[in-house]
Amino acid sequence: MAEEKSLFDDIRAKLIEQNKTEEEISKIEEAYLFAKKLHDGQYRISEEPYIIHPVEVAKILVNLKVDNHTIMAAFLHDILEDTDTEPEEIREKFGEDVLNLVQGVTKLSKLKFKSKEERQAENFRRLFIAMANDIRIVFLKLADRLHNMRTLNFMAANKQQKIARETLDIFAPLANRLGIGRIKAELEDLSLRYLEPDKYYEIAQLVSQTKAERESTVNLLIEQISKDVEKSGINAQITGRAKHYYSIYSKMKRLNIAFHELYDITAVRVIVDTEKECYEVLGLIHSRFKPIPGRFKDYIAMPKGNMYQSLHTSVIGPRSKPLEVQIRTWEMHEVAEYGVAAHWRYKEKGSQKADNPTDMQFSWMRKLVEYEKDITSAQDYVNSVKLDLFSDQVFAFTPNGDVLDLPVNATPVDFAYRIHSDVGNRTTGALINGRIAQLDTKLKNGDIVEILTKKTPAPRLDWLNFVVTKQASSKIKQWFKKNNREEHIEVGRTNLEHELTKAVFDEYIKSGEFERVAKIMNYLSAEDLFAALGYGETTLNKIINKLKKPQPQDEELPQNYHSPAQHKPKKDIQGLEGLLYSIAKCCSPIPGEPIVGVVTRSKGVSVHRVDCKTLETVEPERLMDISWSGDNNSNKTYSTTIRVETAEKMGLLKDIIAAVSDNNTNINYANVKSKTNKVGIIELGLELDNVETLKKVITSIQNIPDVFSVKRIQTSYYSAKSGNHNNSKSKTSAKKLPRRRPK
Ligand code: MN
Repeated sequence: MAEEKSLFDDIRAKLIEQNKTEEEISKIEEAYLFAKKLHDGQYRISEEPYIIHPVEVAKILVNLKVDNHTIMAAFLHDILEDTDTEPEEIREKFGEDVLNLVQGVTKLSKLKFKSKEERQAENFRRLFIAMANDIRIVFLKLADRLHNMRTLNFMAANKQQKIARETLDIFAPLANRLGIGRIKAELEDLSLRYLEPDKYYEIAQLVSQTKAERESTVNLLIEQISKDVEKSGINAQITGRAKHYYSIYSKMKRLNIAFHELYDITAVRVIVDTEKECYEVLGLIHSRFKPIPGRFKDYIAMPKGNMYQSLHTSVIGPRSKPLEVQIRTWEMHEVAEYGVAAHWRYKEKGSQKADNPTDMQFSWMRKLVEYEKDITSAQDYVNSVKLDLFSDQVFAFTPNGDVLDLPVNATPVDFAYRIHSDVGNRTTGALINGRIAQLDTKLKNGDIVEILTKKTPAPRLDWLNFVVTKQASSKIKQWFKKNNREEHIEVGRTNLEHELTKAVFDEYIKSGEFERVAKIMNYLSAEDLFAALGYGETTLNKIINKLKKPQPQDEELPQNYHSPAQHKPKKDIQGLEGLLYSIAKCCSPIPGEPIVGVVTRSKGVSVHRVDCKTLETVEPERLMDISWSGDNNSNKTYSTTIRVETAEKMGLLKDIIAAVSDNNTNINYANVKSKTNKVGIIELGLELDNVETLKKVITSIQNIPDVFSVKRIQTSYYSAKSGNHNNSKSKTSAKKLPRRRPK
């Protein structure tokens, strides 16, 4: 122990008072000594040794009775920024949690606030909370700011103004939101002192001048009601003092009145043990002093958003002086002073509080933290106090420092349209934090986004695939509606042709069907309808659902589909009785395996395997429940394709063909390829009756020596088209083709 008085002594005394163990205290002191060594030789503008600042910040937090790690982080909060310390060193010495807190504070310190208007200020506060992600970081930052405000007189005048403004706009409301009334009031008063020094000193003087009078009024009140209180067996502490300067100031400003016209600068505070006693004391006071109508507020039954609870009333007190009275329990008092910090302190005291319903009913608390009921230790509880209040939003900066609030997953295009629709329409690129970024990049909290624009507006339709704000998507659509009409008509027309087949499309044109549907959908002409489809105002589905069913004889079936006539025997598939259908080529289902029907636009039902990749892109409402009937006695055969990987060896193909025909199966197609790495690949198109036969065929082939693997694959049509016979590639290409018909 050093002989001279250590800066740590006061803190040690407090920690002992708070029943911290010797071990805990020495761990905290270690953080102090580490910071002291690192800041050695550094001084603040006040010419004090730098270490005084972290020590004072720690003191503020010790008074809030925060957890040990937060106190340790308070000592260390400036060392990443102001010394050469590496994060690893903090992790090694004090652990991951302390490091996270220190890094969190460091990160927040880099945010530059520029509050011009109330909305901006609110966005900054929300950004701040969103970025903090652990509520203790907000506490650290508030304590840091409070000490900086207490020592602001050493700063240059213009800096004083700027910092005080920021404190009043950002930090005091944050403290209020977290319910820390004590810090909020001090931050407000200190800000006022620099922003409106005349007003501040005027109020301070008037408050102190009226102090004696105020005290005697309060004493009279105490005298008059303490007997009643005692008689009721209530243990109450009654105090009276002036409200804080800033609240007097803002009331004068709001009501546009002078100090002497303010009648309730005194707040009498009554603190009792139980909630029931709050109402009893209220009754006692109201029976002695006349309540001022309209001034009673029950914040016990209806707590404020920051979980503040109290009864408020104003009465004509002794000597006809109006007084505001606040009545609360000790627990409510702690909550009013320390906010969420008080909450976890009550958890710390153990289970005797657990059945107290008020413990759980703070609405903002529920929103603010992920609360888990099974948390037993205070430490765990504190660790779980994460801020998720704004998890559905992301806040990003303009280069000018304005913050825009956007929904989560917003992109630079959303950002551009939020600035102005003209900026959105002319967007050609974006810089995020100074780097070129894709326009579909998802923005993160705190990103600085610069939109690059060109002279002529030219939004792109594919932006609609990734924008998340309604504003952006409707502006893009609007622009396309107005511009490029010919192009849109062409796009819409082509889409419909693709979907319906050219023959059907032409038939509809001839019969005037599109004109009819256009009128139903409130478009002037078929061209307008195509244009609307082209720029995305309506969808294929909406149009096709309104078209009359084409006559079957008009149909042009693609050659790769089985002729419906081939499947007329109705026994084969249950659920398709009487319907036109075809077996899908992409997956070639075989009787015996699970299948599903897909209602096509004009060719009846297409039958797929349930695991067919193409189903991923099919709208669920087009799917039909179907199954093989099980009595396939029509001698009909189905096609499928397998791929055999083999050693490259002469004569192997013959063995394989033999294995297939031994199982009463025809081969209608064979393709032999070889890869460079000594693997032979044989693709076989098979015709067989059901899946049991297929299994037998596969097993027989697998039993041939030198066969590495046998797999069922998507049809060769798709893989051949992709020009690549790699199995995985062919799947990918099939996946892209769900709505295209084979040509
Ligand atoms: Mn600091």
